[in-house]
This record gives sequence, structure tokens and C-alpha cells, in this order.
Amino acid sequence: MIVQDQANDFPVGPEDTSASQATQDQLHKSYRMPDEQARDPALHIAKDWVQKKKLPDMSNITDPQLRRYATLYPKLRLTSDGTLFLEEGTGDDQRLRLCVPAALIAEVIRCLHQHPLAGHLGRYRTYLQAKRRFYWPNMHKHISCAVEGCTTCRQSKERKATKQVPLGQTSTKEHTRFAKFYCDLVGPWPNARGPGTKKYLLTLQDAVTKYPEAWAITDATAENIIRVLTNEFFPRYGVGMTIVSDQGRQFISTLFQHAVKRLGVFTVKTQAYEPKTNPVERLHRTLENVIRCSMENEKVHPTQWH
Ligand SMILES: [Zn+2]
Repeated sequence: MIVQDQANDFPVGPEDTSASQATQDQLHKSYRMPDEQARDPALHIAKDWVQKKKLPDMSNITDPQLRRYATLYPKLRLTSDGTLFLEEGTGDDQRLRLCVPAALIAEVIRCLHQHPLAGHLGRYRTYLQAKRRFYWPNMHKHISCAVEGCTTCRQSKERKATKQVPLGQTSTKEHTRFAKFYCDLVGPWPNARGPGTKKYLLTLQDAVTKYPEAWAITDATAENIIRVLTNEFFPRYGVGMTIVSDQGRQFISTLFQHAVKRLGVFTVKTQAYEPKTNPVERLHRTLENVIRCSMENEKVHPTQWH
């Protein structure tokens, strides 16, 4: 069967079930499924229906999960070891889908989506994998939410978006998000003294979306800034973007210029003494207010503001 991956928009070829098989094996290795199902409030009752061959009375069932199992009653099967399955398909395609207890749903999705055999599939393909061997109410919705919230997938999409930016494009006509960031320092913070105290904030703000990021650093040195960029910033946004800064000594230092150049990052320096040309200044006013307020109103110790 050829399926279209709605999340990635490319044909994915024959349906592959290896990740779903691996997930099922993993589950059976880690848990005794009849016990896990017996602990689940809905599955516990559904099992009882099958065991006693008792048709569920819909008029008495208010729980939406249980109502779902009640409508599927004719397809529910209990194996000899007491595991509840949903029987699907006919002929060669006939298969048993494990009824997943609510407590294990997140683990099943994580295993299916992140399994090395799956490699962060899009939400539709993850759903297809899940549908082969598992069942729980609202599984499509749960899987969509989990895949959309996957940090690894998001970062990889952002990296792709960044790579599409033509190198060297630095004008204000730039409309691609995460292609140009304004970078600056705010601080030193009043009363933030002593060794190891975070005295400055390093801020980066996306030129298009205005999405801000800030990191507390001990000293405003080029080394500290490069460390944050290489450990925190570039791994998530990729390289190849333009970073706009003022002419602060850290940013014009040979060390900083050399480091970013090696990573393929372009730097543009705004005019000295004209901080307004760097829009990150607006972000600084907001941040300063928030930090100052929390220091004054919430009695945050100056060494613990970050
Ligand atoms: Zn993912």
C-alpha cells in the first residue's frame, strides 16, 4: 500500500511495520500486559465484559473512553494469558491490536516515533505504524500532538528552514524566519557580584518573528558568548544565518569573528552609539523590567535572578 505522509508531503512507499513490531516486542519485554490492563479503569471493565460475555449497556456508560470500547465490543478478544486485543481485518490482513492502557500511551508513541527503525516519522506515518498493532481511543489525536511537540522534529525543520536562506543575504528584505538574529548583551546586573554570579544576559532575537532567546552568563567575554552559541544556539537553529550585533568589544574581537566565520555565520555590526538600529533593545527594556520587578517584589537574591 502506498501512503502519502501528510506531515512531510512525500510518498513513502510500501507501508513498513518494523517499528510497530519492535515497539510491541519492547512493551511485552518491559510490562506484564494483563496486569497493566487490569490497572486501567476502562480496560478493566472492558475485559470483564469479554470474560463474562456480557454486552455492555451503553445507557449506563458515561466515560467517553469506555463508550468507545463498548462500541467496539464485537471486536474485542481476550487471549489465554488474559490480554485484551481488538481484532481487525480479514483473511491475510487479519490482526490483533493490543488495547493500550492509558498509562502506557505516551511510551508507545515515543517508542514508535523515535525508534531507530522509524527515525522520527511524520504524524501520519507514525499513526499508520501504531494502527497496525495498537489501539486506544483518540489515538490519531494523541499521536498528532506528540509528533508536533517532538523537539527533535521541530529542530530539524528549523534547520531546514535556515538552510534555505541564500548565503550572504543580509538585507532587511529578508523574510525567512531564523535567517537573521539580533544579538546583544544586557547587564551587568545591579548587586550581581561575586565569582560564578550570572551578571549578564546574552540575547538573540529573530528579525522576522521577533522570537527571543536569552541566556544568563557570568561575564561578557567573547569566550562565554561563543560557548552559548555553539552549545545552545547553533545546534537548534543551524548555521548560515546572519547575526547583527553592536560594536561591543566582544563582538568585534578577533576570537568571536574567527569563530563565527568558521561556522559560516555572517556578522553585521550596527553603527556605534546608535543602539536603536539594533531592535533587540526593545527586548532588553522588557527583560530589564521583568528581572528588576522580580528582584524587588519577589525578594529574589541578586545572585539567583537567572
Ligand atoms: Zn520526532
